[in-house]
Amino acid sequence: MIDDTTTGAVQSIDGIWITPAGRYWDAVRLPRRLGLDAFNAVTGPLGAVVMAPVTRGMYFLVPPGTTRSWNLPQTVGLGEAAHIALPPAGRKYPPGPYWLVPPRRSQLHTPTYDLHCAVEIALGLRPGRPTADRPDLARLSLKQVKGVHCALCSHRLDQARKLGVFCTGEGLLAEPTELRACAPDCSTTSRSSLPAAGRAQAPEPANWKQPATEHRAMRFDRVTARPRTACCPLRPTS
Ligand SMILES: [Zn+2]
Repeated sequence: MIDDTTTGAVQSIDGIWITPAGRYWDAVRLPRRLGLDAFNAVTGPLGAVVMAPVTRGMYFLVPPGTTRSWNLPQTVGLGEAAHIALPPAGRKYPPGPYWLVPPRRSQLHTPTYDLHCAVEIALGLRPGRPTADRPDLARLSLKQVKGVHCALCSHRLDQARKLGVFCTGEGLLAEPTELRACAPDCSTTSRSSLPAAGRAQAPEPANWKQPATEHRAMRFDRVTARPRTACCPLRPTS
């Protein structure tokens, strides 16, 4: 077990840092589906976001001391006395917790008010952006998931815009994935790139799978010793 006296973090196996909240950041924990809806509804700057596949949750880092009055349903504000399992700096995929948005020195926090508004939109407590651009997640092809084809109209992408991050928890979208669509909208797709009218889209190989998503649970009281392999991703530089 490795201690980091600067951040109070303790490194367990696999480079996971068990780190106290309330010093350099607070965190807001949301269930994954609500969290992704909120993620897509944030209109301002986005700070670091941690995915926790084991618990199907996600954590937004917000400025320290700003979650004391956080009280939205299905969510928990985590400040002093709370600990979060933070992934190693470069981990962007499972197994274990990983960064959906890695920490950046210039943008570590999502502004708490912005996140609060986004969660309210996701909960239906506040009017938000229209949802007409939501793709049919159950019918996406591999090329749509990979960003080669538009996630809305399935035409090959030339100019693309971001639709948001989506996840169904299984199949091609077992983990949150950013989807793209024609820019500025699907009506501008050039005719030459359109498939023949009525031609069905070719199905993707049925055996294509995302990496496994369920892994051992992380428990603070089960950490074991391991040589130090990486710096705590949130350790401030002197
Ligand atoms: Zn399109």
